[in-house]
Parts: sequence; C-alpha cells; structure tokens
Amino acid sequence: RLVGASSASPREEALERALRPKSLHEYVGQAKAREQLDIFIGAARKRGEALDHVLLFGPPGLGKTTLSHIIAAELGVNLRQTSGPVLEKPRDLAALLTNLERNDVLFIDEIHRLSPVVEEILYPALEDYQIDIMIGEGPAARSIKLDLQPFTLVGATTRAGMLTNPLRDRFGIVARLEFYTPQELSRIVTRSAGLLNVPIDEDASLEVATRSRGTPRIANRLLRRIRDFADVKGDGRITLEIARQALKLLDVDPVGFDVMDRKLLEAVIHRFDGGPVGLDNVAASIGEERETIEDVIEPYLIQQGYLQRTPRGRIATQAAYRHFGLPHSDTALP
Ligand code: ADP
Repeated sequence: RLVGASSASPREEALERALRPKSLHEYVGQAKAREQLDIFIGAARKRGEALDHVLLFGPPGLGKTTLSHIIAAELGVNLRQTSGPVLEKPRDLAALLTNLERNDVLFIDEIHRLSPVVEEILYPALEDYQIDIMIGEGPAARSIKLDLQPFTLVGATTRAGMLTNPLRDRFGIVARLEFYTPQELSRIVTRSAGLLNVPIDEDASLEVATRSRGTPRIANRLLRRIRDFADVKGDGRITLEIARQALKLLDVDPVGFDVMDRKLLEAVIHRFDGGPVGLDNVAASIGEERETIEDVIEPYLIQQGYLQRTPRGRIATQAAYRHFGLPHSDTALP
C-alpha cells in the first residue's frame, strides 16, 4: 500500500524527510492546528517555558511527524523521537526522559500502543516532571524519585479514542489533523516538485492532488512515481497527459481510490448487499486487518461520502454504487 508508514523503504523514507517542511510557515493547510500552535509556541518561547503537551491525531500521512519536528524547531529545542511499540520496558522510557534537556520535545508516535507499565511511568513525568524508578531487585528493591527537566511530549495517534482516559487528559493541546483539499495538496505537490527539480504543469499538479486521498504522503509518493514515468515516456516534464497515464498504470482511479479502496467498497456492495456489515466480516472478506481498515482505508471513504459507519455496520452509499456504474441496491429491489 501507498500509505503504510512501515512499508516505506529506507530510500522512500529519506526522500520523505527531504520533502518535510521545516517551519509552521511552510506547513500547508491544517489552519486550525497551525494557528493554535503558533500562539502556544509563541507564548512558551516568550516565557522560556516548556510548551504544554501536544496530542496530534488523524490518519497516517497527514503530517503528524512533520508537525512534531516543526514544533521543536519553532521552540528552538531538540527533538527525541520514538514510538509506542518500541518502548517495551519502563526503563526504555526512563532512559529517554532522563536524557532530555530543558524544554526539549519528546515525540512518541503510535502513542496508543504504549504498554500499560510504560504508560504508568509517563503520568508523573507529564504532570510533575518526575519519574519513579526501581533500584535493586528482590526484597532490597526500592523506588526512588528522579527529577526531570521540563519537557513537552508530542504524542501522535491515528484515533484519539484509542488512548486511555488518564493519558488523554494529560495533553493540554489536542489537534485533529484533517484530510487536505485538492488545492492544498496541489501546493504541496508543486513545492515537492520544485525540491525534486521536476518540471510540472499546474493542471498536472492539481490532477495528482485530486487523486491523493487527501494525504500529503500519498501525493509525494505518486509524484515520485510519475516523475519516473515522465523520464521514461516523455522528456521529464510532468504534463496532465503524462500524469494521467502514469496514474492509470499505478492503478489509481479517477477519484484517487487505490486497489484496497475498491476492494473494500466492492466487497460491501457485492458480498454484503451494500451493508450494513460488521467490520470483522469486511476484514475477513478482503483479507485485511481490522485496524488497517479503520485507520487507513475507511476514514477517507467515509469523509468522501462513499461509506457510512453506523451502529449496525458499514453501508455503501449511493455514491459508491455510482462510482462503479451500478444501480443503487434500493432501486434494484423488486
Ligand atoms: P504522519 O506522521 O501523520 O504519518 P508525516 O508527517 O510523516 O505524516 O507526513 C508525510 C509526508 O507528507 C512528509 O514527508 C511531508 O513531506 C508531507 N507533509 C505532511 N504534511 C505536510 C504539510 N502540511 N505540508 C507539506 N508537506 C506535508
């Protein structure tokens, strides 16, 4: 899949890093989150204090990691980066925390996947900049308190609802990242093309933007693949025609759905009569993890109005039927 962060090759990750905007000013879209952060960062800087802890949530590829780097850069502090599943033991987190310098940013990606024992360590750290660590073993073991430097935790998660309440309550700033509009994505594509030294026509840039599922990571990946196509099939310039041919080859359809999007919608339509169908049944039917469906595939289909999430299950909308040139199930009934 184009979206999965873990599926990216080291080369793709390096390119991704190179395309990251470095300041809030360069960060396209997400006006609400940007304005909010701009004010809080300004205030923290002025007072020389650590910024309040920040929770960023939204589907993969919308710019959470990028934003965390920007927060650190705007604050003029270091960023330490880790992720929920990587922190296996309390001492992994304790080591990171005790090495932070004053007002540093600690970025924990996939923070909903922290183990409960690690999460325990985090509470007093977030609240009082203190941790309790165990020294020694057996009957001689005792717990001591260690003072930490003031710091800012930036946590990222795909869904805020997956966090435990006590953890969620400790974030002073909560920002939900939204899918980008084609216009915003077009600015990102044009900017990336400039950085990659690829000439691209304006209408081609908008075409790529429109077919990127509202997601900058996808827009940038499509751009790089279309660039390869333009080098081989054309003179290197990305025109609308080149973009369209390449997108066809990449199996990205006119509204930007990829193979998995279509597979999911078609399963709901053909195998479950348009729904409602429970998530587990959909997952089994298309051979995809529940979590991937909920975090990666569904949100865009729902936002675009092709799929509905109801208490009784998923329903394919009229728009979904129309997309595949099918009559709607209701009208097909006798
Ligand atoms: P997430 O952490 O939410 O999965 P990332 O921060 O890794 O997403 O973003 C993926 C890529 O998309 C980055 O490499 C960056 O180049 C690009 N990107 C994300 N948000 C923006 C933005 N607001 N403006 C420009 N580029 C962006």
